[in-house]
Amino acid sequence: SVRVRFAPSPTGPLHIGGVRTALYNYLFAKKNGGELILRIEDTDQTRYVEGAEEYIVDSLAWLGINFDEGPKEGPNAPYRQSERKELYHKHAQLLIDSGKAYYAFDTSDELAALRKELEEAKVDNPSYNSVTRMKMKNSITLGPDATKELIENGTPYVIRLKVPLKEEIRFQDAIRDWVVVHSSTIDDKVLLKADGMPTYHLANIVDDHEMAITHVIRGEEWLPSAPLHILLYKAFGWEHPKFAHLPLLLKPEGPGKLSKRDGDIGDFPVFPTEWNDGKGEVMRGFREDGYLPEAVLNFLALLGWNPGTEQEIFTLEGLVEAFSLDRINKSGARFDVAKAKWFNQHYIKEMDDAALVALVNEQVKDEALAANLVKLNKDRVTFVAEIVTLVPYLFEAPSAYDEQVAGKAWNDLAKQGMPVIIDLVNGMAAADFHSEAIHNTLWEGLAAKEIKPGKVMQALRLALTGEGKGPDLMLMLEILGQKQVVERIQTALE
Ligand code: GLU
Repeated sequence: SVRVRFAPSPTGPLHIGGVRTALYNYLFAKKNGGELILRIEDTDQTRYVEGAEEYIVDSLAWLGINFDEGPKEGPNAPYRQSERKELYHKHAQLLIDSGKAYYAFDTSDELAALRKELEEAKVDNPSYNSVTRMKMKNSITLGPDATKELIENGTPYVIRLKVPLKEEIRFQDAIRDWVVVHSSTIDDKVLLKADGMPTYHLANIVDDHEMAITHVIRGEEWLPSAPLHILLYKAFGWEHPKFAHLPLLLKPEGPGKLSKRDGDIGDFPVFPTEWNDGKGEVMRGFREDGYLPEAVLNFLALLGWNPGTEQEIFTLEGLVEAFSLDRINKSGARFDVAKAKWFNQHYIKEMDDAALVALVNEQVKDEALAANLVKLNKDRVTFVAEIVTLVPYLFEAPSAYDEQVAGKAWNDLAKQGMPVIIDLVNGMAAADFHSEAIHNTLWEGLAAKEIKPGKVMQALRLALTGEGKGPDLMLMLEILGQKQVVERIQTALE
């Protein structure tokens, strides 16, 4: 059965590109009735960041992306590479024993000297490889006895993969189709470092094999590593999983890929949720910027994948249903802020009123008010917070009136109508002061004085809000209440 993994390194907050990788893995797993595994690739301790793993799990959970196996539980535990060191040692040893890898004792000075020499000779592919290894200090040039002695003396060493001189490496990527690379372009990569830690390459391959991963779905930045990975699988005598390298996420404008810094300078976040490193660095997240998880999922799914139809609105279940690797695009996907907002607006409109009221109530702490605000603005906003912030005048009387609107609307008829409205409002029972009843009272009352309500409503809006446009006026009267309405009209008349 299908088994895929999301394998982040806990080096900081999860970038939105990483979320997309997790999402596509999730969709592929669910579509095929398979499993999604979370593996924490934390072998580079110099880049380890406290709290990053928790952040990754929590922010993916916010989006509804959950794992079948991972550090919390699962039959392949542990899922943190730092806790699997022995396994990598064992496997590095296997490659040594089969002659596919070798010990290297070169000091950093010796390595620097090699680099310099190759640079000066203008060698095409200056690296520690099948050619240059022959003049370095390693178990191939030293022979078994000298090697043994050095190791016994405690000389620091690394283990390198013995990359063959002449071999064509080919594999079929699910997105990029055939990739062909010649082994002469690949260097003898370090597999086990001097500190005993595996490199990404060794740990990644060993774990994908041990965890029975069938498909590796990851970002395009890993494509250059794939031929080396193929070589490693071969060296172990294992079948390699299928590969799918996802297209880059591009900046909203201009050249280049979307980076972690873009969120700070653009009007869009690049993290799923806010990242707070606890030391003063706080970076914006979609959640805190007011995006709903449904919207983030939906627009992220379409950044690099298409359903092959015109359909744009997808729930997570709908995405699972429609997803396939062969509909992932080859070219980079441009991050489109306007589109993200459009999705958010859509999902706010779709949202259950009660759930929305609960969110707004977090801001206003008044359930009746929250319910009225939702009624007033639900169809007008892009973000939940705007349900409150779009109508500041409901919380504070206007300090100025739109002059252009006033020039037209605040005419003699309006001035004649306002006292009538005051009387009508004052005449209503408090319990009846609801938008529909207000409407009926005003329309009937004004008509009785031979004033066409349509002719004075803009003036009333101006008096109450200071503006010429806005949401449902009668509902705003209800929200303001009789006293405020009367006071504001009186102020406007002064
Ligand atoms: N640890 C790598 C990362 O941070 C995983 C790459 C892979 O999926 O092979 O992206």
